[in-house]
Amino acid sequence: MGLRLKDLTVHYGSVAAVSDVEMSIEDGEVVALLGPSGCGKSTLLRAVAGLERASSGTVSWDGADLAGVPVHRRGFGLVFQDGQLFPHRDVAGNVAFGLRMHGVDRKHQAERVAELLELVGLPGYGARRTTELSGGEQQRVALARALAPRPKLLLLDEPLSALDRALREQLAMDLAVLLRRAGATALVVTHDHDEAFTLADRVALMRKGKLVQTGTPAEVWRRP
Ligand code: ADP
Ligand code: ADP
Repeated sequence: MGLRLKDLTVHYGSVAAVSDVEMSIEDGEVVALLGPSGCGKSTLLRAVAGLERASSGTVSWDGADLAGVPVHRRGFGLVFQDGQLFPHRDVAGNVAFGLRMHGVDRKHQAERVAELLELVGLPGYGARRTTELSGGEQQRVALARALAPRPKLLLLDEPLSALDRALREQLAMDLAVLLRRAGATALVVTHDHDEAFTLADRVALMRKGKLVQTGTPAEVWRRP
């Protein structure tokens, strides 16, 4: 159960950015997709999200093929490198976004927003403007927004890459803890070995569009 990729291939024109990938993520598991720039990590994640179409093979959740299921119907949460917060909404407005989409009433929205801001270490930040937050704080808000509707699967594309090194190390540890605390099932794309090691139950190593190794961090760990 959970996520299953079967022979997943994604072409851009005649070039296969993702090639015959077999992968699964069980419920409650955090998997890091690790590999050098250009190896196809983002393309794979985007195919899972429904932002790219599979050229062949399947993406399924709990056994149901997701082909033709649009992004907002998959029940997945997305976080990108630069957060992509809504600049015209305050922090609470950003975190509540998915809840509004799901028709959650105002009282429960406010409760859930407070709970999420607590979880990501930003209690009391609801009325702050997102443009006044540091990069690290913006990523925490993006994470809170993605987690708020309790997604089946969280898809994180280089969530810490835009931050400076010291902050990244700290946030990788924070993220590891809060993904567990939220009971999240997650696929985290990264090119950073340390980050993958800190975050993941399992690491999937990608090279030139192919999955070359999968295992616990200890099993696949190689210093570059
Ligand atoms: P990564 O996330 O590992 O850096 P990507 O998935 O972004 O890798 O890219 C994989 C390959 O696909 C690269 O060769 C990249 O240049 C190519 N690619 C990515 N997006 C597009 C696109 N929209 N059109 C054409 N080629 C693309
Ligand atoms: P970091 O070192 O984590 O990148 P910053 O130095 O950017 O953090 O910001 C430190 C604190 O100041 C944060 O709480 C941030 O929200 C706040 N802050 C940053 N820029 C502004 C601003 N233009 N207006 C108000 N508060 C700000």
